[in-house]
Amino acid sequence: MKSKINIFWFRRDLRLEDNVGLFHALNGEHPVLAVFIFDTEILDQLPKDDARVNFIHDSLLKMRQKLQDEHGSSLALYHGKPIDIYKQLIQEYRIATVYTNHDYEPYATLRDTEIGEFLESNGITFKTFKDQVIFEKDEIVKKDGHPYVVYTPYMRTWKAGFKHSEFKFYPSEAHLERLLKTKDLPHLSLSDIGFESGSQSVLPYTVNPKLIQDYEATRNFPAKDATSRLGPHLRFGTVSIRKMVEKAIAEKNEIFWQELIWREFFMQILWHFPHTKDQAFKPKYDRIQWRNNEVEFKLWCEGKTGYPLVDAGMRQLNETGFMHNRVRMLVGSFLCKHLLIDWRWGEAYFAQKLHDYEMASNVGNWQWVAGSGVDAAPYFRIFNPTSQIQKFDKNLEYIKKWVPDFQELTYPRPIVDHKMARERCLEVYKSALN
Ligand code: FAD
Repeated sequence: MKSKINIFWFRRDLRLEDNVGLFHALNGEHPVLAVFIFDTEILDQLPKDDARVNFIHDSLLKMRQKLQDEHGSSLALYHGKPIDIYKQLIQEYRIATVYTNHDYEPYATLRDTEIGEFLESNGITFKTFKDQVIFEKDEIVKKDGHPYVVYTPYMRTWKAGFKHSEFKFYPSEAHLERLLKTKDLPHLSLSDIGFESGSQSVLPYTVNPKLIQDYEATRNFPAKDATSRLGPHLRFGTVSIRKMVEKAIAEKNEIFWQELIWREFFMQILWHFPHTKDQAFKPKYDRIQWRNNEVEFKLWCEGKTGYPLVDAGMRQLNETGFMHNRVRMLVGSFLCKHLLIDWRWGEAYFAQKLHDYEMASNVGNWQWVAGSGVDAAPYFRIFNPTSQIQKFDKNLEYIKKWVPDFQELTYPRPIVDHKMARERCLEVYKSALN
């Protein structure tokens, strides 16, 4: 009879250190088989040179190599629908428990329910843990038990609930000898899963004391490029959120810390209100008569609106998979308000292009921009794409970098007149909301 094992299933927590589910798995009763499944339900929707798939693959290979070199073990890679892979795994192994970390997105919740039921029906326990946030689900709610839908009181309660002295890490890295002692586990190259390397790659993050200390002074100026680039690393779990919060606290920077709390704010919103992934949080906003002009949408996507700061942002996004937060707010506002194009179109375009795409943050911020979301910008706040240059790119450094042609005759004229677009937007929004 085969001996029993446990499984640890990596998903959006691609690291060996301070990984809660992995820590518990390694402290369980049986040796642990580490697995990752390239989920065809997700991959089938992505372009074949997607930098995020590349990044995931790379991160897995690094872990696999480390486990092989230093621990006489490995990481098993599979490709398919998770349920089919589990059907295969239960044939191959005698599994006692499958451990994994929570994933709060609507698709993931359904997938995990299905997998959990399947495992339980085969006598296998399914244990899941909080790992990618400090507070999840309904851990931070109002006194009456309802979720917060305004950020500031949420943030205050979050901070009040956070006891630094009780804060603990989960040193999974210290227990890796509990992994199954075999190096002979399924491997997959990028081409085995139908992908190839593209021209873009996910960049490393920077979270040093200087960046955090200067954050307040520099974070609003896109040319300074002085933000952490933590996005994709938090998204795929190549860093631990606990370690990042620890750093923010060590540098006593409230603003940087609060950005990390914005991330959790939007995660709990999506968890409480999963329908907001494609419906307005404030239902009245779904009455807006969007113009949805496809030609204008294409010009926006390509960075050819004739408004240099908008175009710089879109070109940065297209060329690198990143756009500075200030400029994200401007291009978003321009799309929804100047062009009256549905925020869902912009959200979908960002989802395709952003290396740090995160459903909760993307939907939350797009709805903020459109005015339809929780704690959103009031609808009559319409960024002026020209005066924003004065505020955030006075010396035109960011614009010159991404739109070098902006002073040439070939550079497009503005696709809409600001004053006209502003008035049109106010009229259309007003008639939908009244
Ligand atoms: P830093 O400024 O260094 O911040 C550190 C971390 O704090 C970020 O990595 C992120 O995890 C978190 N954070 C900062 N600002 C926000 C915010 N407003 N909302 C939620 N979390 C925040 N962020 C995403 O992670 N994924 C998205 O898909 C996404 N889509 C966005 C769409 C729009 C229209 C807008 C206006 C913002 C969006 N953001 C998104 C938020 C923000 O722009 C990015 O988190 C930030 O620019 C990423 O750069 P950074 O990692 O250098 O951030």
